[in-house]
Amino acid sequence: MLIVLALACSRPPASPPASAPITALITIDTWRADHLSPERTPRLWALAEQGVRYDNAWSPIGLTSPAHATMLSGLPPWEHGLRANNHHGYSLSPEVPLIHETLGLPAAAFVSAFPAGPEGGLRRGFSLFDGPESGERPGSVAVERAQAWLPTQASPAFLWVHLFEPHGPYQGDGATEAARYAEEVRLADTLLAPLLDELVRRGSRIVVAADHGEILDEEPCGLQHDRSSAEPVLHVPLFTWAPGLEPEVVHDLVGLSDVPALLRGERPAPRSVWLAESGLCEPSCAPGCAPPGLSGRDRVAIDGGGRWTHRPGRGSWAEGQPDPAGRALAEGLPPVPVPQGEAPEEAAVLGYVLPEEPSRR
Ligand SMILES: [Zn+2]
Repeated sequence: MLIVLALACSRPPASPPASAPITALITIDTWRADHLSPERTPRLWALAEQGVRYDNAWSPIGLTSPAHATMLSGLPPWEHGLRANNHHGYSLSPEVPLIHETLGLPAAAFVSAFPAGPEGGLRRGFSLFDGPESGERPGSVAVERAQAWLPTQASPAFLWVHLFEPHGPYQGDGATEAARYAEEVRLADTLLAPLLDELVRRGSRIVVAADHGEILDEEPCGLQHDRSSAEPVLHVPLFTWAPGLEPEVVHDLVGLSDVPALLRGERPAPRSVWLAESGLCEPSCAPGCAPPGLSGRDRVAIDGGGRWTHRPGRGSWAEGQPDPAGRALAEGLPPVPVPQGEAPEEAAVLGYVLPEEPSRR
């Protein structure tokens, strides 16, 4: 018996598995909640049906960089510091830990557009960050490079893949912008299918989300998301899949701040209110694209029943009334600071809150 035990102990350690499970975050830019469906996204819908889908999930802002920082940090923009897209000079607070850092896993990112790129701090903690230096690139590139990276991972690792197809300008054969937008969403679904198949085969934990949605024809200035706080922009698809997860549709009020919890395999606690803000109206805003007298950003409070309201920068609540607590929270959101390098007159046009001191950071 002792001899057998000694022999057993002298065996070399088992070789690592050839396909370790991956913790994967898949983000699809500008993907509306009503475009996660069997018809529009058959592969993603099939995975969502086998996992836990959150049909009352919200983004904190219709801007790519801040929304992705929220998914990676679990904090809203006014807490993680990246209040606009990278080209506006904001950056992620270095004191805010990101999910892959707290998981302690080697991490790789394959992104498809510059606003999801390294500027602003989004590359922190990634040993491999692969994305375009400017503009965008086809989602097929990010998917193919992620698929080439997967076989090199013999141990658990973190993967972020970002697709940009549904972001304008839309391409396709459809007769309308809405039809072409739907075609781009369908293309993202098609491109992701082989990667999702491989992640499932490995028994990975997968979280799928959009950073924000898109205005199609709901507002005078359609085909945009950066200036709006409307439901089509802030309501986003969100679901998770992992081996053994009991399929479920959850109606709790949740948001992109809950993505880190999902990546840890935890169930988010339902919220009583979700807070959000609009992006900003740059000087190039066409007439009718923003509320008159826009100063800063819309503040948004969404209550537990999914009812949404908003308050333009000046004036009262424009749609409905949130409960007093939600209203107080939304009105108390920290103002948007002047970004570094912004001329005062430009900042005033943009609606930033100018500091009292003449010298700015
Ligand atoms: Zn985006």
